[in-house]
Amino acid sequence: PMSENHLPTAELQALDAAHHMHPFTEGDALNAKGARIITAAQGCYLTDSDGIEILDGMAGLWCVNIGYGRQEMADAAARQMRQLPFYNTFFQTSHPPAIHLAAKLAEIAPGDLNHVFFNGSGSDSNDTNLRMARVYWAHQGKPEKQVVISRWNGYHGSTMGAASLGGMKGMHKQGGLPIPGIVHINQPDWWAEGGDMSPEEFGIARARELEEMILEVGEDKVAAFIAEPVQGAGGVIVPPDSYWPEIKRILAKYDILFIADEVICGFGRTGNWFGCQTYDLHPDIMTIAKGLSSGYLPIGGSLVSDKVAQVINAGDEFAHGYTYSAHPVAAAVALENLRILQDEKIIETVQAETGPYLKEKWEALTDHPMVGEAKIVGMMASIALTPDKASRAKFAAKAGTVGLMARERCFANHLVMRHVGDRMIISPPLVITKPEIDLLIERARKALDETY
Ligand code: PLP
Repeated sequence: PMSENHLPTAELQALDAAHHMHPFTEGDALNAKGARIITAAQGCYLTDSDGIEILDGMAGLWCVNIGYGRQEMADAAARQMRQLPFYNTFFQTSHPPAIHLAAKLAEIAPGDLNHVFFNGSGSDSNDTNLRMARVYWAHQGKPEKQVVISRWNGYHGSTMGAASLGGMKGMHKQGGLPIPGIVHINQPDWWAEGGDMSPEEFGIARARELEEMILEVGEDKVAAFIAEPVQGAGGVIVPPDSYWPEIKRILAKYDILFIADEVICGFGRTGNWFGCQTYDLHPDIMTIAKGLSSGYLPIGGSLVSDKVAQVINAGDEFAHGYTYSAHPVAAAVALENLRILQDEKIIETVQAETGPYLKEKWEALTDHPMVGEAKIVGMMASIALTPDKASRAKFAAKAGTVGLMARERCFANHLVMRHVGDRMIISPPLVITKPEIDLLIERARKALDETY
């Protein structure tokens, strides 16, 4: 239902354009058109300021894993806000929500990721990880091991450190990035960059770039390799099957840390609790945020292995932390989110039922004349739009023009899908039902027909 207590849409849009600077948005475009204003949400549906219901195929920004409007989450926040709205965990203090959340994360995380450093978001978690990886080596008398290797078209956030780790060239152009000590290798995007190679050959070739880069920089200078198990913001780039096994071989051979950025993949997105379980990866540090609280409040974390935590804890003080590290209300909300994910067996349902159902419907989209490859892992999926499937051709128009058009057609059909260039992507709430999946596919097909 439409929330009654707001101004008419045009007035909200005018105030928005006059005073509100939006992330990743061209100001002029916003002024010309006006933002779409979301006023309420329930389950998998958003309601806009005109009272229109929209199916949210993106779970907000890949984060509302348990769906919108959960009363228990509001109650958990209200209880904690009354009990203790704020206290910090600096200088030898702690509080129950931080303690319980850290213990819970240690329980559900794979391997020996038994320690948590709390942050406010995915970006500042990756800044923490960058410093922690370098400090880890410095504490062991190897301060020259400083370089972090990451991937072009990876996304790790927007702060100076995280955006430097990321491989978004458009972001690097603004503000003097990357900061020193970060180098990039190519991504395993077979559709766009695979040329004449088979996907499997290409996966191996791209993985070997890690080894080449380690040798070029010098093993004694490399601190870590960071990567998303499945690149999300880069366009849901699902790597060829050969990619991760080859990366694992290389990681085992050289003495460097592996940081898995699970800001999107974590908390069920790939059909397991963590993307590292889907691909059998064993990170030394894992970045978490988004699905940790299903986006109900901002919170992020660095999950740290016994090996790394022992060194960090034994050395000089790790001079790092945020006022909102382990914010008690956010931590209480995250704990409630994890309880819901567990008690309602949401991830098990994705793995056994709704995930395979979505996969079948999603892959069938390749019968559309404009859809080249369709990729899906759990509940993150993409399709590549192309004028010619056989040659994997790009459109004559500027990259992203057709994708943008398709996104607009989706929205006109009351579906949120995102476009990254000419790839269309979805990442719906994990609680999406089979009838809602049918509706998503029906609206997506209609939007594709209208774009074609
Ligand atoms: N890492 C990954 C893989 C992400 O997808 C994102 C955000 O989309 C981030 C880090 C940054 O997280 P935040 O926007 O919470 O700072």
